[in-house]
Amino acid sequence: MSYIKNVSIAKNIRQIEAQIDGRAKLVAVTKTKPISLLQEAYDAGCKCFGENKVQEMVEKQALLPTDIEWHLIGHLQTNKVKYMASFVSLVHSVDSLKLLQEINKQAAKAERVIDCLLQIHIAQEETKFGFSETEVETLLGSDEVEKLANVRIVGLMGMASNVADELQIRHEFRSLKLFFDKLNTSYATSFTILSMGMSGDYLLAIEEGSTLVRVGSAIFGSR
Ligand SMILES: *Cc1c(COP(=O)(O)O)cnc(C)c1O
Repeated sequence: MSYIKNVSIAKNIRQIEAQIDGRAKLVAVTKTKPISLLQEAYDAGCKCFGENKVQEMVEKQALLPTDIEWHLIGHLQTNKVKYMASFVSLVHSVDSLKLLQEINKQAAKAERVIDCLLQIHIAQEETKFGFSETEVETLLGSDEVEKLANVRIVGLMGMASNVADELQIRHEFRSLKLFFDKLNTSYATSFTILSMGMSGDYLLAIEEGSTLVRVGSAIFGSR
């Protein structure tokens, strides 16, 4: 069942930006939403969109202004990377070395360097994708990653458990921020982006150190 909601996208974006108050950057998550609503968000000044399916992102990118930053936020299959390599701004969801290598290969073909985040598994749920902290430490110390000239790992992404318990969510965000800081002190990394927080928890995430929030339903209504 779906209702056409009387939401004002511009008003929602203004309210959310006011709450964020410059502390983090807003990615408007536009998955499943029609072009007309993306255009409304764009007209309201939002120029950074997140999609979780490559094909949908490619179709929308072709129809909208070229100054939009496109972020891939969902689980990414290696065979899809080639379709978006020419334009994607940031891949939030790198969860394997194999995927990173494919992004590097396709970025080289497109003569680009693609910014990537490593997705870290912070939630209690079994189903979420992502590296463990130990896996990331191994990855960052490896020669394989050193060799990749066409990807730049610029930070981490995490999704908190889908629970009502604010304390648990806060704890998960806090542990990701601690790990982010630890990597920047103990490795030669200079990560700048910590992508955490969605419609239900972006203010908590910002309090815990998020620099990039991925907000969909709070802008566009429920999916
Ligand atoms: C859908 C999605 C979001 C946005 O979710 P909302 O609750 O609608 O804000 C954020 N991050 C990822 C990875 C998503 O898939």
